Amino acid sequence: MVVVKLDKELCCSYQSCMSECPEVFGTDDIGVVRLLMTEIPENYREKVELAASVCPQGVITIERA
Ligand code: SF4
Repeated sequence: MVVVKLDKELCCSYQSCMSECPEVFGTDDIGVVRLLMTEIPENYREKVELAASVCPQGVITIERA
């Protein structure tokens, strides 16, 4: 399992992450990106890594739990 973190202060809400992994990255009521889960099961790990790689702000971090 991995743990994903998102620095909302630096997020620009382009939503590239949501395109790559909508199971983990969603939006709140006003369209700001938020994490739908932080402890990521193995079957979503590759998609989360791809989401992190396409984030233009580099604000998604992934750590092994
Ligand atoms: S790709 Fe990065 S900057 Fe864009 S919405 Fe997602 S976390 Fe925010």
